[in-house]
Amino acid sequence: MKVIVVGSSHGGYEAVRELLMDEPDTEIQWYEKGDFISFLSCGMQLYLEGYVKNVNDVSYATPEEMRSKGVSVFVEQEITAINPDKHTVHVVNHQDGTERDETYDKLILSPGAVPATLPVEGTDLENVYAMRGRDWAIKLKQKTVDPDVHNVVIVGAGYIGIEAAEVFANAGMNVTVIDVLPRMLNTYLDEEFTDILTKEMEKNNVKAAPGQNIQRFEGKDGKVNRVVTDQATYDADLVVVAAGIKPNTKWLGDTLELTAGGLIQIDDYLQTSAPDVYAIGDATLVKFAPTDGTETRIALASNSRRQGRFAGKNALGYKKMMPSVSGSSALSLFDYNFASTGIKEGTAGTYGVETMSTLVTDSYRPPFVPDKYGNAKVYFKLTYDPNTTRILGGQIMSKEDVTQNINAISLAVQEKLTLEDLAYADFFFQPDFDRPWSILNVGAQQALRDVE
Ligand code: FAD
Repeated sequence: MKVIVVGSSHGGYEAVRELLMDEPDTEIQWYEKGDFISFLSCGMQLYLEGYVKNVNDVSYATPEEMRSKGVSVFVEQEITAINPDKHTVHVVNHQDGTERDETYDKLILSPGAVPATLPVEGTDLENVYAMRGRDWAIKLKQKTVDPDVHNVVIVGAGYIGIEAAEVFANAGMNVTVIDVLPRMLNTYLDEEFTDILTKEMEKNNVKAAPGQNIQRFEGKDGKVNRVVTDQATYDADLVVVAAGIKPNTKWLGDTLELTAGGLIQIDDYLQTSAPDVYAIGDATLVKFAPTDGTETRIALASNSRRQGRFAGKNALGYKKMMPSVSGSSALSLFDYNFASTGIKEGTAGTYGVETMSTLVTDSYRPPFVPDKYGNAKVYFKLTYDPNTTRILGGQIMSKEDVTQNINAISLAVQEKLTLEDLAYADFFFQPDFDRPWSILNVGAQQALRDVE
């Protein structure tokens, strides 16, 4: 069996791993159009802040390692077309300019996405950057130590924009984060959390500019120097645009069924509209667990990895249905750590579901534990269906790292647990780690009182 895998980031890497684990004798050809395999944008902040010294270490695999496992790795070789009838792909070798066709028995596509550009004037000015992939990582790193950069404007207050803001604030620059939405991290957290985080940003020299529409980028001598919104003008020596992504699928439009937004249509088994062709990762939709499988876009490495496993298995002849996901994610912002999953009060409207939410706060450890030992406040918000009490999502935040709790909520969402299930669920107690009642129990117990 010959399997071709396209794309070397999370989705592609995990598909190759699955093939190797399940059927090590599979003939695997792995293609990457860039000059580096398996760069992990998720680790970019650690590199930009100097915790990881070498950009090439932000990776899971090297061509040599994968070749030693029997994988044929092709770097700077782009798949530009598929012929599903002949079961061939067209390969353009960017190293020597040659082209060829390769046959496959099964084909797994993980072409991912690229940063979206804004439809405004000035996006082509020098020093208007994006934050995804190794090339941008290298360019951004240079800017963190550039003495000419004083004012940095980040466009987009999602996870990537917030990571960029923290990087440049920690590098001593004045940072402004602009978003068209009314709050920072609007889709990840509700207001009670983002109000605190916005203050934390301001304390650390990051100005929040929500609810503003970018009109244009202005420049001098070809370099950006100002960002103009519908409400204000901001000085900028560097702009980082982190305002969404667009799928890398233009080349597939004539061959596979795509959504209106260019995402590859897949079924529950990751199969595309062409036989023996699977698609995974940021170029696809996932099924959302809280709404029992509504198709939605959640571009996360964790989703790509899961899909990679299932596509690998199905390519080998199994019939494994990809489970739905809850969109769980976590991040730190200066002194705070937070995580969320599923539906929030602020996103319930998007999914058209009736929800109720309960917010509880508690100390991380029992009250007798002194602050200097570490006893920060914990904020936990649970979102549920008020009629059935089914748990639909959760958010947590603290100066301690309590983020892992959200994985339990993600499982509760996936398993359709109710407030009754969570209220008295058996969670450990040890004063070094928590209170006699876990904050998850406390939240569900309070929610049960709230729905009565
Ligand atoms: P991509 O990562 O987009 O990779 C696709 C690859 O395919 C690219 O290398 C591309 O060059 C190659 N390719 C495309 N077309 C072709 C072709 N025709 N031929 C050959 N090669 C091709 N997610 C998390 O879960 N947790 C995090 O902490 C997190 N942090 C992030 C931080 C940043 C700054 C960014 C930008 C993203 C982060 N993400 C995180 C999201 C995560 O990186 C993506 O969800 C994930 O990379 C998607 O993987 P993918 O395989 O779909 O595609």
